[in-house]
Amino acid sequence: MWWFSILVLLYNSSFIFSQSLPLLLLVSFNGFRWDYPKLYGPLGNFSRLEQRGVHAHSMIPTFTTATYPNHYTLITGLYEEIHGLISDHMYDPKTNQTFQAGETTANQWWPFKTIWTLNEQMNGARSGVINWPQGFISTSKYEPYKKDRSFKDTIDLMLSWFNDQDRPINFGAMYFPEPDLTGRRTGPYSSNMKATIKQCDEYLGYLLNEIDKDIRLKTKLHLIITSDHGMEQINATDRPMYLEDFVNINKLKAFGTETVLNIFVNQPNDINSILQNLTQIPHSNTYKKENLPVRYHYKTNSRIGDLIIIVEPGYELHRQSFRICEDGGTRVDLNTIHGNSGYDNQIDSMKTIFYASGPELKENFTLSKSINLNNVDIFPLMCLILNIEKCSLSNGTLSHIQPFLNDPSKLSSLNGKETEKLHDGPMGLVIYLLVLVSFVLILIMAVAWSAVSFRNASAMARAAHPDAATIAEQNQYKFTQINDLKLHPSIGDDNL
Ligand SMILES: [Zn+2]
Repeated sequence: MWWFSILVLLYNSSFIFSQSLPLLLLVSFNGFRWDYPKLYGPLGNFSRLEQRGVHAHSMIPTFTTATYPNHYTLITGLYEEIHGLISDHMYDPKTNQTFQAGETTANQWWPFKTIWTLNEQMNGARSGVINWPQGFISTSKYEPYKKDRSFKDTIDLMLSWFNDQDRPINFGAMYFPEPDLTGRRTGPYSSNMKATIKQCDEYLGYLLNEIDKDIRLKTKLHLIITSDHGMEQINATDRPMYLEDFVNINKLKAFGTETVLNIFVNQPNDINSILQNLTQIPHSNTYKKENLPVRYHYKTNSRIGDLIIIVEPGYELHRQSFRICEDGGTRVDLNTIHGNSGYDNQIDSMKTIFYASGPELKENFTLSKSINLNNVDIFPLMCLILNIEKCSLSNGTLSHIQPFLNDPSKLSSLNGKETEKLHDGPMGLVIYLLVLVSFVLILIMAVAWSAVSFRNASAMARAAHPDAATIAEQNQYKFTQINDLKLHPSIGDDNL
């Protein structure tokens, strides 16, 4: 029966290992504009989160400021021109296929390693995802978007995954569709929006209370509360502009949203005349692909059109045949639309929120306004929190997130402290003994049925106990990776 004991103990040691992993929950409220807490505050629970962690004055999304592209950026740290999800509606000339947010599920559109995939490559680590706006997701635990799933139900399910006795997750990501829905229907300055923001604050309060009820989550869970973009008030919806009124639609293919359109011309010789026509569209700017401002980071992908129309904030450009996705392809009454995103990512109304808390982050800390936090910066921060040794290169800038972290020397000893915790208190002693005994038994297997007695093997194991040294070594490696990232803060224009 000794082999059975080994299996049980190996299983236990795996469980114990998973219990010692860093914990992180990423929450995205869709379309949460950076200044909603100021416009509709005081918000007690957002203030509570501010005090227990770090936050930024605002965070700049990636251009185009649409939902699917920015949610993919959050979990890859890449600009849209790099990860290739350049719009909620796009065309791939290489494969002649079209992408529509909310409908397309083929995994080819999400080729990069995400934070949840990288996390699962660590020993014992598991990821769980609920509602994330992405068509293809493969994680240990996953629930696709369900329109009627409440925030409370989402939180309850997610926290149950963190506390799963058999297969606990250590990283979770969840998405909530508000306040974006209210923003689009009634605009960012409506009484409805005020009520929705108050509701979001209550949701956050429920999450914080549930975390605080659980001593392990309260002391170990890192929490990131953020969003994909802001919200702009739409004017003149009674006088909509249509693409067909300015150009012969038979000479081109148009893909995109009401705020950014990618135009592929059928005949290269027509490009200048079509450009001339498109420049007549009021409240918009049309660029040749090569002339787009560098700051958009929106050039190097073949899914970006020959010409790009960028509509000015507060306006929309429609197509007679354009699909407004909210209604599943049926055109909706423009008078019911009062807010939108997708505009220039540098304008105030497109900026969004960033809050975070947890043992590796400072308390009651606000990032200096002189630092422009970008959503590509969140991915390397999550790599740091999760202790991912081989974090993928990203477009994030480490100097932007460095101020959030506790002292680097404290960070370097964090894992050592975790090891020391094993010696504290009766539960710590039990865990320590279980790990030690598991190690001893693994040694017995390694010497393959040798005649070495259990006592001798145990003594050998204690003499050569590698945990602290191994963990220190891993920690050093982690810092090597961070330094490497510092050398390559961007893989955008400079390196690709
Ligand atoms: Zn969105």
